[in-house]
Amino acid sequence: MSFQSLGLSQPILQALTLKNYETPTPIQLQAIPTVLTGRDLLGIAQTGTGKTAAFVLPSIDRLIASKRRPGPRACRMLVLAPTRELAGQIAESARAYSRFSPLKVATVFGGTSIGRNKQDVARGVDILVATPGRLLDLIEQRCLHLNEVEILVLDEADQMLDLGFIHSLKAIVKLLPAKRQTLFFSATMPKSIKDLADRFLSDPAQVSVAPAATTAERVEQYVSFCRQPEKQALLTIMLRTGFSERGNMERVLIFTRTKHGADRVVKLLGQDGIAAAAIHGNKSQPQRERALAEFKNGRTKILVATDIAARGIDVSGVSHVINFELPNVAEQYVHRIGRTARAGAEGIAISFCAEDERAYLKGIEKLTRQQVEIVPLPPGFTAQAERIKATRAASPEPVRHERREEEVRERRFRPQRAHRGRGRYASAVKPMGQKPRRAAGR
Ligand code: AMP
Repeated sequence: MSFQSLGLSQPILQALTLKNYETPTPIQLQAIPTVLTGRDLLGIAQTGTGKTAAFVLPSIDRLIASKRRPGPRACRMLVLAPTRELAGQIAESARAYSRFSPLKVATVFGGTSIGRNKQDVARGVDILVATPGRLLDLIEQRCLHLNEVEILVLDEADQMLDLGFIHSLKAIVKLLPAKRQTLFFSATMPKSIKDLADRFLSDPAQVSVAPAATTAERVEQYVSFCRQPEKQALLTIMLRTGFSERGNMERVLIFTRTKHGADRVVKLLGQDGIAAAAIHGNKSQPQRERALAEFKNGRTKILVATDIAARGIDVSGVSHVINFELPNVAEQYVHRIGRTARAGAEGIAISFCAEDERAYLKGIEKLTRQQVEIVPLPPGFTAQAERIKATRAASPEPVRHERREEEVRERRFRPQRAHRGRGRYASAVKPMGQKPRRAAGR
């Protein structure tokens, strides 16, 4: 079955050729013909299945066919996503897929300049990708309205609820025209999501692909048992030895349970001479974007992430996922390891399991109906770990990424120290508590 036979128009087929997509994925096969008819859709699918194209491609065709132009401060298609990263990636895909059509795509999400958002939507846009909070801010400030929405997409609805967006979503749905097409996607479908779907959808067609458990079948999975304090040394050894015969560690995504934990892993790896970057909610938007861009372009080979920050990270060629800590929700494990097996590619997932995480591992094995293969600790592990700790204590010099962040901090404050009250930076020096002018607007 080809994209052509699904009834997509020429400008889209041209864009797909440019992307080298040859055959539609299962969710695309199921969703595209239905969406083209204008019917509402309830999709059970997770990231990595090609679901973005499944809702964006037919929507582009419908937007072109309806031949309307968006009025000022309006959008014709609204895509709601839970995180900035996912919103950014959906917009990137929408831009690529609509490359040969006249549609205008914009994004609005927290952490970016609201002034810029206002400019972007002032003349109206065809496709707007937004996180719920920033969208409501713009509506409250009367810089945007939803009266012209023809198509609404709710992506990763289960994450929306986890992140506490329920009230925002209820507020948004009241502002939408009753006559519209709604496409609703979630990786899981517990009752709370079903209730939310009922609020948004009318007589939807249902499509569903690869329930969480089956994605895991495409990933080689291993677990190493060790004590929590030994995990850092195990990680360093594994990254240094390339996990021996089990594939080259070309691009490694490491998961920690907390933001603080992610920073700590990056810092200690730096002390062991291994460059890595962290991505989590405490990082500024430019820091997150930079970390992600460098991971994508291969300058950063190791990215340490929390679950929320990793949602929607779409990087092809992640060779290994390492669970530095096991997640306490089994579905989260499947989401995590799914990062290595995107759009058909296979990957390797390694989990570090401490004594108090064994119950989580049981839950994961029950959900995936698979037993995770146990990899023993490397020979001489205890002695190696001691040596790593000793070297670290003797030379606590961090490498590249950490150092770069420190340099940025240094540069920010150096003028104040070096030129206090005189010379080129004198005007930038302000009493304590006020920002120096040079730093304002960062
Ligand atoms: P998604 O589930 O939308 O996040 O997509 C996962 C990845 O699969 C993205 O990198 C897409 O660019 C890619 N992809 C989507 N559809 C196809 C397709 N039909 N053929 C090849 N790659 C695809």
